[in-house]
Amino acid sequence: HLSARDGYAPLNSDFDNFYIRRLQLRINDCFRRPITGVPGRFITLLDRKSDDFNLSFKMTGTTTETLNMSSYNYLGFAQSEGECADAVEVATKKYGVSFASPRGDAGTSELHVEVENLVAGFVGKESAMIFSMGFGTNATTFPALVGKGCLIISDELNHSSIRFGARLSGAVIEMFKHNNINDLERVLRERISQGQPRTHRPWKKILVAVEGLYSMEGTMCNLPEIIALKRKYKFNLFIDEAHSIGALGMQGRGICDYFGIDPAEVDILMGTFTKSFGANGGYVAGDKALIDKLRVTNAGTLFGEAPSPPVLVQISSALRLIIGDIAPGQGQERLERLAFNSRYLRLGLKRLGFIIFGHDDSPIIPLLLYNPAKIPAFSHEMLKRKIAVVVVGYPATPLISSRARFCVSAAHTKDDLDRLLAACDQAGDILQLKFSSGIAGGR
Ligand code: PMP
Repeated sequence: HLSARDGYAPLNSDFDNFYIRRLQLRINDCFRRPITGVPGRFITLLDRKSDDFNLSFKMTGTTTETLNMSSYNYLGFAQSEGECADAVEVATKKYGVSFASPRGDAGTSELHVEVENLVAGFVGKESAMIFSMGFGTNATTFPALVGKGCLIISDELNHSSIRFGARLSGAVIEMFKHNNINDLERVLRERISQGQPRTHRPWKKILVAVEGLYSMEGTMCNLPEIIALKRKYKFNLFIDEAHSIGALGMQGRGICDYFGIDPAEVDILMGTFTKSFGANGGYVAGDKALIDKLRVTNAGTLFGEAPSPPVLVQISSALRLIIGDIAPGQGQERLERLAFNSRYLRLGLKRLGFIIFGHDDSPIIPLLLYNPAKIPAFSHEMLKRKIAVVVVGYPATPLISSRARFCVSAAHTKDDLDRLLAACDQAGDILQLKFSSGIAGGR
């Protein structure tokens, strides 16, 4: 029976702060309830008692099917039917569900080699290496790339896995303002010369880290201008394409494809299989020499379990579909549908008078709620209309730029998006969210 008087603090004693605790208690949103089945075009939620705010709530035994605007299912591959699902079923029978070994021991199968070759070809790099987890890809790759005496320059809104990996690396970390090329150049100028003659570089390596498409903002990195700075300041460039791979570009090959930039300009392209491919895990792609080095220095793959067979086959089938090796035309159709849906929903929300963030071609569409008190209310209004949305607030966003985030999918039909627009129209009036009425973010 240890007590605070003995100087004992339970492990969870400092987990809560005022804002997080208050907001969590009040959020009676879709995802304070487990889902059943596939997170595809629709998602089914287990119902709970409406007055039950505890995390360990009691289920009522009933379910609600909702239109799913929440999952990262850009190309509609998070389904349990179709070519991918059939191939996964066959592979699971053949290989089981685990290789029961890290890659370096008995865990490298023909499936890993196949996926790595497909990924490298798809992103336009010599070599690729895959990981069981997207988060772990960044968390373990940064320490393998850079260390003490190196400088990482990171966009301030980079994903937590990048921040995590960067801190773990021991390199010095500098941030620049989100997507602000002038601020990036300021950091480069200040940190590279540091008052020394221009020929002197006080860093072993300099790594600039950005994302292709930012998941809370729907913004794209300004790749052409970053490449221009790279030529001038001669740094290494790392791009996290978790949300852009499969989702951007005429061929779905990500941010380089979108801007028509040769992938050779980027030193390391990272991505995940959890968004556009309906699978699990991540990859890094680069020159052969770099990837060969990573294979023997990355602790995550040296000591962690290799990606599993069903996951690998889901990835390879999805990639083949996108490329057109399987069911020619279907991949292209999905890409076009996603591009159309993204623009259609964005335009529709703007017309209704909402304030939304992000690039016109982004399938991530954040709708500003501003006031944190409107987070649960918006979620609730959507759920009443059988639509599942993700709502985000502090600390993931600044306190007063709370938002809802829609993830558009190629699996959505125009009718689905019209249904969402009608629901937003009503909820926007009820919660006074529309800018054109002159009171956005107000009462
Ligand atoms: N990078 C970015 C930019 C992400 O958004 C995410 C997850 N949302 C990850 C990495 C981690 O990927 P995963 O969820 O596949 O582990």
